[in-house]
Amino acid sequence: MAPKLELHFVLIPLMAPGHLLPMVDMARLLARRHVKVTIVTTPLNAARVRANIDRDIQLGSPIQLQLIRFPNAGSGIPEGHESVDTLPSMDLQENFFKALCLLQNPLEELFEKLNPTPDCIISDRHILPAADIARKFQVPRIIFDGANCFFLLCNHCLHDSKVHENVSDSEPFIIPGLPDRVEFKKYQLPGAFNPNATNQGLNVAREMVRESEGEALGVVVNTFQELEAEYVEKYKKVSGKKVWCIGPVSLSNENKLDKAQRCKRNDSNDEEEDLYYMKWLDSWPARSVIYVCLGSLNRVTPEQLMELGLGLEATKRPFIWVIRGAYKREETEKLLLEDGLEERVKGRGVLIRGWAPQVLILSHTAIGAFITHCGWNSTLEGISSGVPLITFPLFAEQFYNEKVIVQVVQTGVTVGRERVVHLGEEEKFDAIQVNGEKVKEAVEKVMGEDEEGKKIRERARQYAEKAKKAVEKGGSSYLDMSLLIEDITQHVKGLKMKEEEAEPQYGPN
Ligand code: UDP
Repeated sequence: MAPKLELHFVLIPLMAPGHLLPMVDMARLLARRHVKVTIVTTPLNAARVRANIDRDIQLGSPIQLQLIRFPNAGSGIPEGHESVDTLPSMDLQENFFKALCLLQNPLEELFEKLNPTPDCIISDRHILPAADIARKFQVPRIIFDGANCFFLLCNHCLHDSKVHENVSDSEPFIIPGLPDRVEFKKYQLPGAFNPNATNQGLNVAREMVRESEGEALGVVVNTFQELEAEYVEKYKKVSGKKVWCIGPVSLSNENKLDKAQRCKRNDSNDEEEDLYYMKWLDSWPARSVIYVCLGSLNRVTPEQLMELGLGLEATKRPFIWVIRGAYKREETEKLLLEDGLEERVKGRGVLIRGWAPQVLILSHTAIGAFITHCGWNSTLEGISSGVPLITFPLFAEQFYNEKVIVQVVQTGVTVGRERVVHLGEEEKFDAIQVNGEKVKEAVEKVMGEDEEGKKIRERARQYAEKAKKAVEKGGSSYLDMSLLIEDITQHVKGLKMKEEEAEPQYGPN
């Protein structure tokens, strides 16, 4: 029999697909464990994820969406834009952070009305007002960090040692305190350690986010023990925080419909498109097709994108190439047309210009390798599907994730990109960091007949099995989610006992 519904968790995702989608997956998982879950987001973000949630509700799941207005007025973000991936320009990043700060009042008003009163907030680390709300309503706050424990530990060790402050941009150095000997160059680090000189406001915002983390009860991480056990343990130890590893959360999308509707595109006929991709994939042998997607933003110069395409052509293998993204789209299309690449690869290469049903595509047995920008969600989705990864990191913590793939779990190879290109700085560095030849070489390494390629493929297959086991009943991530629920249950019980003790006692002296 299902336990009595006692707990109410409120989840507040950052408005960006790489943060929203895993948090919705997490919400659905919590609701399956009989926790009442309210996801708070804005109308345009809700529209993307509503399909799966509505289906869950129809099946009796205790999950709901609560909408708040996105504060376009006052933040300088034009109306109709409510997510990082739809911003008309990356120059608006600071405005976006301002908009997040302006969520304070709408969130407070919502919390006044929520029934039953929330027992726990899980908020993206960038949603600063959540800290004040948690304090005001006396609810424990847990941070969701879109990344992994390798990232959290690297950041901790860098803040602690400041080793990056004594090296030049391109000088290799080792981050002290990690379980493995991992070499980085300063210009591969995320903005917090490799700041963007022209955008000081973002550095201030980063510091504010970091400071707000101190009060949180702990952090919930989309990873699994078997993937990075030593990093999980070490991070727990050095941070002194509670850490719950509950991933890969994308595996919560078990059937085709869940996978296809994880994020709704409203610019096309989703079902018809999905059917076309699936049928096309059906026509290829197992593990023969390369899937290429550089995330929800795809901030790559047209010249670099073109080289990537030429590399794919040179492999002579079938491929699906997602070229979505707002960055210089017209120029990219012009280059593609002038070159004639799309025409030359017709039948063997499919280009997706809009949103791709990534989790659905990756679940098809025809996929044999994934060229990824190493966003953590894509990385985990790739690992969960058991295919080798070819790493093409672009910005943020993506060079960290490349190390996880290539060095820690060794289920992929690098394409050889050298440096981070911060969002909005695409023009500042070499337009082309990697030529087509390197792309072709990397593909051959993981899909070819070399012994090393075979070993990589076998490891990838094994990690996918471990990922699946982790989220199954009794697996490490399943148990960590039980622990999270139990920890909040104990917290609520503790609060109730305190309240009872504080009440005046009547009766005989
Ligand atoms: N995604 C997708 N289709 C696309 C682009 C992205 O489904 O065309 C999903 C992908 O499956 C992942 C998320 O969007 O869950 C992107 O997150 P990630 O951390 O990989 O990268 P980001 O977009 O944040 O850079």
